[in-house]
Amino acid sequence: MGSGMTMIPRSQIPSAFEQEQFLKILSREEALARFEALLFPRTIPTEMRKLADALGAALAEDVTAPIDVPPFDRSNVDGFAVRSADIVAAGEGKPVRLALNGETIHCGTAPALQVAAGTATAIATGGPLPRGADAVVMVEHTQPAGSDAIEVRRATSPGQFVSYAGSDIARGEALLRAGTIIGSREIGMLAACGIAEVSVARKPVVAVISTGDELVQPGQPLAPAEIYDTNGAIVTAAIDENGGEAVFHGAVPDDEAMLEAAMRRALAGADMLVLSGGTSKGAGDLSHRIIGRLGQPGVIAHGVALKPGKPLCLAVCDGKPVVILPGFPTSAMFTFHDMIVPVLRRMAGLPPRSDAKVSATVPVRIASELGRTEFVMVSLVEGQDRLIAYPTGKGSGAITSFAQADGFLRIDALADQMPAGTEAEVTLFTPHVRVPDLVIVGSHCTGLDLVTAELAHAGLTVRSIAVGSLGGLAAAKRGECDLAPIHLFDDRSETYNTPYLVEGLELVPGWRRMQGIVFREGDKRFEGLGAKDAVAAALADPACIMVNRNQGAGTRILIDRLLGGARPEGYWNQPRSHNAVAAAVVQHRADWGMTIAPVAHAAGLGFIPLAEEHYDFVLVTARKDRPAVQAFLDALGSDDARAALERAGFRPA
Ligand code: AMP
Ligand code: MG
Repeated sequence: MGSGMTMIPRSQIPSAFEQEQFLKILSREEALARFEALLFPRTIPTEMRKLADALGAALAEDVTAPIDVPPFDRSNVDGFAVRSADIVAAGEGKPVRLALNGETIHCGTAPALQVAAGTATAIATGGPLPRGADAVVMVEHTQPAGSDAIEVRRATSPGQFVSYAGSDIARGEALLRAGTIIGSREIGMLAACGIAEVSVARKPVVAVISTGDELVQPGQPLAPAEIYDTNGAIVTAAIDENGGEAVFHGAVPDDEAMLEAAMRRALAGADMLVLSGGTSKGAGDLSHRIIGRLGQPGVIAHGVALKPGKPLCLAVCDGKPVVILPGFPTSAMFTFHDMIVPVLRRMAGLPPRSDAKVSATVPVRIASELGRTEFVMVSLVEGQDRLIAYPTGKGSGAITSFAQADGFLRIDALADQMPAGTEAEVTLFTPHVRVPDLVIVGSHCTGLDLVTAELAHAGLTVRSIAVGSLGGLAAAKRGECDLAPIHLFDDRSETYNTPYLVEGLELVPGWRRMQGIVFREGDKRFEGLGAKDAVAAALADPACIMVNRNQGAGTRILIDRLLGGARPEGYWNQPRSHNAVAAAVVQHRADWGMTIAPVAHAAGLGFIPLAEEHYDFVLVTARKDRPAVQAFLDALGSDDARAALERAGFRPA
């Protein structure tokens, strides 16, 4: 050991744990405060932009009007430039005759002659007022009097139909303030003053890298166990939407040397680097280690008390923000919109995005984990007199919930729930609320798309929120949707759906879906058998694995009845959708399961029919007269929809 070594008290040495993994979880607020303190204030680089390219940019400096607009006193009408004093006495019975000067002032023509007392000069809208004139008489209020004179039959006051120089924009006036976002209106004002280019905040260049061995770019074929790179596309677009200039560097495998090279290359040409994936502290957790070598001070938060989004990593490398978003696309989006967009906008010289927030009422209680800021995806629908934010798509991996979601709300770390009726602030993914014409909340079925397709073609927007039959029924009872598709079997009456109706709700028959057992074509254990025998054959073979359904699913009731208390291998694999059952069998993770006929056929599986399920619509009577509801009912009964349903394997009621 060298004698020059400085000894550090043991208590100041970070444990290997902290040093390596940065497991000290920060609150959302603490993480943001540290991140922003290292990044701001900062000088926003500016650049000159031609007007045509300035749309959406933030003005870097105040702009002062260099000229008067209009630049001269201008006529607002087609008529005659006059001296108002000449015609003060004019009236219906007392026409005043004015001699015409020998010119006509068109737009863009400078007048040559003076308007002397007792004369007038023909002038077009936009023409400059000639010397001597102080008002314009509309052509409609005059009559020709021979070839070189007019008669005026009404008096006029000075300034009549004249726009004075500088009345629109006065030279020297502050035209636009720094920080203004340039829209078409601002471009118009600048153009009117003859300004061809402006100094704007330079868009921050943001490099985007996706990480993961499993990632494939859209357009390429997908091998087993691979998935498409969603974050790359979505983060790139969201950066452009928020004032940045995204440069996508593709997906890099979980390889330290390759990733480091890619990160260095990306950061060198950018003001900011956004990665996603590789943060869940597994073996492939490389990026945060690399960041430590990219610049000072490096990682400042790795692990933030967010749900979902805990693996978020924030870093600053020599003044440039470096962010690693969680891998799951929805987690990546929550954290990006909530914590990164504000930073990006500040770097872009843009104000916080006020149009990206709306306030809406939460119709149901949302439970939340104490100690973590929770993000909840919501769908906005129109209530009686306010917006309603419907929580959708639980689970951080659910990209599909994007399709239904308009944005998300945030539940504070110190709250263990958001009570029903709370007025919450919703952050929109894309700023503009599209409240749908028709809201369908309940059990999802692929047949539904076949019916709503007609509405979409008619220009109506349909929002379908999949919350299961019971969730839909509850929403209908609260009057928060137009229709709730359900398939609920009532054991006592042995009928579907009707027994679940209450006052204010009615049932519209939908269609029947054949439920049955699926197996891979050619599996001798099942071929040619009926449902009961097929299940008996499956139970007789210990190597045979089933795939079940979740508790509460109509299909699950049928499965349990068939099994009669047996719990074969695979029973605890309980996916939540018809399609997952088919996928498990196709991919040999299971040998049999129960799903609906259309899904079985689409997946190319063998199918043993068992029982027909009734998929009907609970209609909220109070909303029956809404045009979109009527359009839906028409579509449901139409020959086209019925034919499409039949083709897909459903039986219209
Ligand atoms: P990771 O943080 O890399 O462990 O990723 C967590 C989850 O997100 C895994 O299921 C990944 O496959 C998934 N994931 C990571 N990056 C992406 C991406 N760019 N697009 C879609 N899914 C991703
Ligand atoms: Mg990964």
